[in-house]
Amino acid sequence: MKIGLEIHVQLNRLRSKLFCGCRADYYTLSPNSNVCAVCLGLPGSLPVLNSGAVRQAIMVSLALRANPSTRFNFVRKNYFYPDMPKNFQISQYDKAGGAPVSKGGEMELTTDAQKPLRVKLTRIQIEEDPGRLFHPSGLGSSKYTLVDYNRAGVGLLEIVTQPDLSTPREARLLITKLRSILEHLGVCNTSLEGAMRVDANISTDGNNRVEIKNISSYKDVERALEYEAVRQSQLIALGKPIERETRHWLEEKGTTSSSRAKEEEQDYRYFPEPDIPAVELTEDYIKDIQGSLPELPDSRASRFCREYGLTPYDAGVLVLDKALADYFEETVRLYPKPRIVSNWIQTELLRQLNEKKQEISELRFGPKELAEMLSMIDKGEISGKTGKKVVMEMALTGEGPKSVVERLGLARLGDEAAIRALAQTVFKENPNAVKDALKNPEAVNFLVGQIMKKISGRADPEITNRVVRGLLKAQTSS
Ligand SMILES: [Zn+2]
Repeated sequence: MKIGLEIHVQLNRLRSKLFCGCRADYYTLSPNSNVCAVCLGLPGSLPVLNSGAVRQAIMVSLALRANPSTRFNFVRKNYFYPDMPKNFQISQYDKAGGAPVSKGGEMELTTDAQKPLRVKLTRIQIEEDPGRLFHPSGLGSSKYTLVDYNRAGVGLLEIVTQPDLSTPREARLLITKLRSILEHLGVCNTSLEGAMRVDANISTDGNNRVEIKNISSYKDVERALEYEAVRQSQLIALGKPIERETRHWLEEKGTTSSSRAKEEEQDYRYFPEPDIPAVELTEDYIKDIQGSLPELPDSRASRFCREYGLTPYDAGVLVLDKALADYFEETVRLYPKPRIVSNWIQTELLRQLNEKKQEISELRFGPKELAEMLSMIDKGEISGKTGKKVVMEMALTGEGPKSVVERLGLARLGDEAAIRALAQTVFKENPNAVKDALKNPEAVNFLVGQIMKKISGRADPEITNRVVRGLLKAQTSS
């Protein structure tokens, strides 16, 4: 199986759209209020290229080891669709005299089997986002469609990979890694719905290539490709041909469906954009950006191993999500035992997030509360086991650890008199075990276990052991 991806990344951290002064944070505004003559394509309006978008495109290119062009230009891609008020999209193209912002590039992934996988990139181009269509009762069943042009003209990068991926899972790994790189560069708020959209092409056993369009959430890429892989292998098993076609991903149904109108490249009638001159960049400009790139996931992972003594695997898991890596470092700043923090994040925190299908930013407690809870374990105020329960409660209610421990009465019982009273009850209830324990020291553990059970493991184990041995001694001497 061969899979290639075209990933559209919204430059939604810029102040303005790609060619006009309208805001890039279109999603915060009421429909159709973030528009002007330029992004609506009204006669006589002229686009002006956003230099911040060029800078970010070069940052992404360099981070993905692509070669930025010192001269590139824009083309018009003509098509008629209600989400495109101008009836054309200003884009880039690598044919017909067009030159995209960069060519080549490469991403290195780590497969689930911990093997390196290199995926080559074809090109990166700058283009504008269309508006948004809403189908109030779902695609295909709505009587009418609503359109919002707030998004029309927001900057996009299209990142095109070669068909170097061989499973849907690898496609997911690539998207995850790319997402982390974009977050580290600070060019895209990727958790925003539609901020990363994917078209994927997939061919099985050298058969025709099928393109899946419209995967509007990066989380769906694996699911859409898995569906398509099964559909294609069923056709092959039945001896039926696989048509070369474009299919749409239907998110609600979890299936793909053939899209009847297939545009061919010539239908777009590309021609050079007459309103925007070619852009020339100096080598110094590119060098300057190269020199100011922030720390990226791979070097951050190496630093985590070096500075905090984490294993490459653990460091790799943390840096694949910038917010998670930030959470880790902030907790370590407050509670400087990195390996313990990493373990808690990778077991208890990730479990909470997976169960609730949440992202770390949605977690109801922060590094401060986690650090506080870990210090409580160190001070013997709660046991490690209780700590897990506290984390669960904090995730549920957003309370701090002290308040959870108090409300649920989870504090470790270190009061010797109280433990002795419990032990005496347990001795009375289990006379045979007491007789056993007098002869067989291993049976002592049973009695300790019974005491723990009475107060759900909260008794201080050292004191409990001492109390039980003391009581047994008293029995033999009496
Ligand atoms: Zn505008």
